[in-house]
Amino acid sequence: MKVTVIGGGLAGSEAAYQLAKRGVHVTLFEMRPGKLTPAHRTGKFAELVCSNSLKSRDIYNAHGLLKLELEKLDSLIMRAAKFAELPGGKALVVDRDKFSTFVTETLTSLKNVKIIREEITEIPADEVVIVATGPLTSDRLAESLQKVLGVEHLSFFDALSPIVDAESLNFEKLYFKDRHGWDDSSYLNAPMTEEEYYRFYEALLNAEVYMGHDFEKEEKVRYFEGCLPIEEMARRGPETLRYGPLRASGLPDPETGKEPYAVVQLRPENQEKTAYSLVGFQTQLKIPEQRRVFRMIPGLENARFLRYGAVHRNTFIKAPAVMLPTLQVKNRPNLFIAGQLVGTEGYVEAAMGGLVAGLNAFLLISGKSPVVFPVNTMIGALLDYIAHSDPEHFQPMNANIGLFKNIPPIRRKNRREFIVNRAIKEFDEWLKSLKIS
Ligand SMILES: Cc1cc2nc3c(=O)[nH]c(=O)nc-3n(C[C@H](O)[C@H](O)[C@H](O)COP(=O)(O)OP(=O)(O)OC[C@H]3O[C@@H](n4cnc5c(N)ncnc54)[C@H](O)[C@@H]3O)c2cc1C
Repeated sequence: MKVTVIGGGLAGSEAAYQLAKRGVHVTLFEMRPGKLTPAHRTGKFAELVCSNSLKSRDIYNAHGLLKLELEKLDSLIMRAAKFAELPGGKALVVDRDKFSTFVTETLTSLKNVKIIREEITEIPADEVVIVATGPLTSDRLAESLQKVLGVEHLSFFDALSPIVDAESLNFEKLYFKDRHGWDDSSYLNAPMTEEEYYRFYEALLNAEVYMGHDFEKEEKVRYFEGCLPIEEMARRGPETLRYGPLRASGLPDPETGKEPYAVVQLRPENQEKTAYSLVGFQTQLKIPEQRRVFRMIPGLENARFLRYGAVHRNTFIKAPAVMLPTLQVKNRPNLFIAGQLVGTEGYVEAAMGGLVAGLNAFLLISGKSPVVFPVNTMIGALLDYIAHSDPEHFQPMNANIGLFKNIPPIRRKNRREFIVNRAIKEFDEWLKSLKIS
C-alpha cells in the first residue's frame, strides 16, 4: 500500500503520519530547504510561519472543540503542540522550534516514510496522491493544479470580509432588503445617518493597518487592483464608500420609506443565517481596530467576530466546485487536497485536513469507502463548508461556531453549550462505530 504526499507543512505532515501509523508506505515530498517559500525559514516539517499560537483550547470555543476532536483521532500536530506547549492562558501557545522538531523527528523515525527533498511540478496521475502544498504552493505546481481542476478554480489571494455571529446583532436597528428586489431575505441592511456615516468614515481613515509580510508588500499593487480594502477605498474620498459598497440606492428603510444616507449590507453565510459577512469589507485593519471601527456600524455595537477581515497572499481552490467532503477531487477520487490549499484557514484547521485526507486515503487503498464526518461535529461542519458552500463566493474559512447547522430554537445563552455537547456526543458515537485505530 503506497501513497504520495506533496508538502511537509501542517497538513502534509499530519497526513503522512496518519498513513504511516496504519502501515502504508508514504513518499513525502517537501521542497524545503532547497527551495523556500516566501514565508518559511527552515527545512523542518510543520514550520509555523507566523504566530506561535494555535488559538483557544477552551472546548466551548470552536478552536478548542476542533483540537479535542483531533486529539481523539491521535493527531500528530496536537501531540507536537502538547510536547512544545508554553504558558499561554486559554490559548495553546507553543515553542515553534520544539514543535516543528518534534514533527520532523517523528516522521524521520518512521521506517515506512520516505522523505524526498524536491519540488514537485506535476501531479502524478496514476497513484493515490495527497496535495498539501499550502497557501504558498510553488508556481509550477499551481499551474499543474490548474490543468487538473480548471484554471477558474484556483485563486491566488484572499480578500476576506469579516463574519459576525447573527446572535450578537441588534436586529431592531437592521432590516432585510435586496437592492434588486430578487430576494429580500438575502441581505440584512444597517442604515446610517449622515452623522453616523462621517463618524465611521473618519474612524476608518485613522485606524491602524496591518502592514503584512515583506513579500506581500511587493504584491500589494496586484491585490488592490482586483479588490480594494475598505479603508483604501475610503482614502479615495469621503463619498467613495457612499457610492460604492455603502450605497443606499434601492434600500429604503421600511420604517421611514426613505433611503438612508448610507447602508452597510450583510450577507448570510449559511442557510440557517447564523452568521453574516459584511459585504465589501475586505480589510487590512489590525484585529482590535476591526472590532473598534466595525462596531460603530448601527446594529453591530456588540458584534461578535467569527472571522476577521484580511487581504493576503493565499493560493486556494474553489473547493465547493471540485471537492467532495472526503477531501477527494470529484472527478479524480485518487487525488486528495488538504490544508490551506483546500480552503481552510489556520494551523489547526490545516492539520485537520491532513488528518482527514490521510485517513481517507488509507481507507481508499484498503478497498473501503472514505468517510464523511458528521456535520454536527467541528470537523464535519468545516468539511461541509468546504464541499457544499456557494462556489461563487467561496473564501477560506476557520473553525467557528457559525458553521453549525440544525440548531433547534433554544435560548441564546444555552446555544453554544448545546452545539458543543451535541458535537462531542455525535463525534464519540461516530468514532466508536467507525472502528478505526
Ligand atoms: C504568511 C502567512 C502567515 C500565516 N499566519 C498564520 C497564523 O499566524 N496562524 C494561523 O493559524 N494560520 C496562519 N496562516 C495560515 C495557515 O494556517 C498556514 O499557512 C499553515 O501553515 C497552512 O498549512 P498547510 O499545511 O496548508 O501549508 P504549509 O504549512 O505552508 O505547508 C505547505 C508545504 O508545502 C511545501 N511546498 C509548496 N509547494 C511545493 C512543491 N511544489 N513541492 C514540494 N513541496 C512544496 C512548502 O514548502 C510547505 O512546507 C498563515 C499563512 C501565511 C501565508
